[in-house]
Amino acid sequence: AAKREKSGVAVYDARLHERGAAHLTAVTELRHAIDRGELFLQYQPKALANTGAVCGVEALARWQHPTRGLVRPDEFIPIAEENGLIEPLTRYVIDAALRQCRTWSDAGWEVPVSVNVGAACLHHTEFPGDVADLIKRHGLPARLLTLEITESAIISDPERAVEVLRGLTDLGVRLSIDDFGTGYSSISYLRSMRVHEMKLDRSFVTHMCTDAGDSAIVHALVALARNFGLQAVAEGVEDQDTWTALAEAGCDVVQGYFLSEPLPAEEVVSWLGDRAAA
Ligand code: C2E
Ligand code: CA
Ligand code: CA
Ligand code: CA
Repeated sequence: AAKREKSGVAVYDARLHERGAAHLTAVTELRHAIDRGELFLQYQPKALANTGAVCGVEALARWQHPTRGLVRPDEFIPIAEENGLIEPLTRYVIDAALRQCRTWSDAGWEVPVSVNVGAACLHHTEFPGDVADLIKRHGLPARLLTLEITESAIISDPERAVEVLRGLTDLGVRLSIDDFGTGYSSISYLRSMRVHEMKLDRSFVTHMCTDAGDSAIVHALVALARNFGLQAVAEGVEDQDTWTALAEAGCDVVQGYFLSEPLPAEEVVSWLGDRAAA
């Protein structure tokens, strides 16, 4: 925030300082939000492509900021990643999602939940133990929890990531590769890891019916998933035509605004009830 002049005197740089201060404030506020439980989750349903039966929900973090209103995860997740907060945040989200899953289970709805896991978590050997504690605390079968991870987390430190991921699959949780096909893919890790699910990024999915290139990518990725025995999940499905095309391509699961937007926790059961009755 300060520039050194030849004299050695620090010269004030207002613009840099402002940015620095705003950033520091955001980091501090996010830390407090995690500590005080000011983050909350919404849940976006997923359905089997063939039958439309709901097969789970993805937990998505939200931050209700006292003055700035609702802050999007695309804004605060990177801040968490860069400032050592992604591990407490991920633990918080898993804890909250499992508590909710238990509430649904007690009400007679078995709803598998997926949670997004920040890359840094895969570089810490304590992470599987933390997840084991949370599952035990909520008294749920591990198979109800899917952890969505990104390829970049694996590729930045493959040896450590493979060890942590093995610890997680040993618990019985499911693993999903999120945003598959974006960034630098190195599909060779699929040989050595017990991954259960591949999530096709919505940047390929949403316009696959009007863009031949997107359609070709989706078909290739679904074929890849099938050959590795993985469940293929398409996100960003916004209309019936895309859903139909995905089912025809052999994609197993669909998610997107056409099925449902992310829902507040308290609306999920009534949404499930309405669908079951329909
Ligand atoms: P993601 O994991 O790829 O999640 C999908 C995003 O697409 C969500 O945005 C969801 O609301 C949005 N979406 C769902 N269906 C559609 C659709 O049909 N069309 C379009 N255009 N968008 C759709 P959201 O909730 O803003 O989350 C953005 C990203 O933030 C997530 O991308 C994920 O990477 C990250 N994120 C969210 N919650 C968490 C969390 O608890 N932990 C971590 N580490 N990351 C999170
Ligand atoms: Ca995700
Ligand atoms: Ca995704
Ligand atoms: Ca994404």
